[in-house]
Amino acid sequence: MPDQNVVVLTAPSGAGKTTIAHRVLEEMPEMQFSVSATTRDARSDETDGEDYYFLSLDEFQRRIDHGDLLEYEEVYPDQLYGTLRSEIETKSKEGPVLLDIDVDGATNVKEAFGDDALVLFVAPPSKEELQNRLQGRGTEDDRSMADRLARADRELEKADTFDGVVVNDELEAAVQETLDRIHQFLSS
Ligand code: 5GP
Repeated sequence: MPDQNVVVLTAPSGAGKTTIAHRVLEEMPEMQFSVSATTRDARSDETDGEDYYFLSLDEFQRRIDHGDLLEYEEVYPDQLYGTLRSEIETKSKEGPVLLDIDVDGATNVKEAFGDDALVLFVAPPSKEELQNRLQGRGTEDDRSMADRLARADRELEKADTFDGVVVNDELEAAVQETLDRIHQFLSS
């Protein structure tokens, strides 16, 4: 896809990348959020079409077969997440596009976009802190928590393969560092 500026925030679940993504969108009104498709259930505070497009497994599969997805991953068992090509095409007409996706998806987007993509890895200060945050969030059952922590180990090992690492120790400092890196990327 030519001439599209894509910014990807990736991280293990619980590192705070969604919070940082929301803050970036507040601070940069020109930035467009890429709403992903997923087969997981909506949480009570989530809205279809805003946070995700919540699809059935059949519908998601139909989209895959149709070639509608730029990338997709089975992030957790039976839970598919993916970036819709149409979403990037439509949103990039309005401004740079922000993606909040998992580490494998981020690797695939970097391969597809090369220098047109900035991929930032949001790291927790420590694994213990990641676990505390996930528990504090209270959105996961025990099984989902175990899946997320197991996956986090593997994801943390890939931090240095991306364009930059932002350690989310103190939120406002992490937001500022993310904004600085995005501005630098967009002006280069
Ligand atoms: P959650 O269920 O906590 O909203 O998201 C779980 C993980 O899936 C997060 O790491 C999130 O960034 C990732 N994710 C969300 N959308 C996509 C997507 O379109 N593609 C990929 N590969 N991962 C995604």
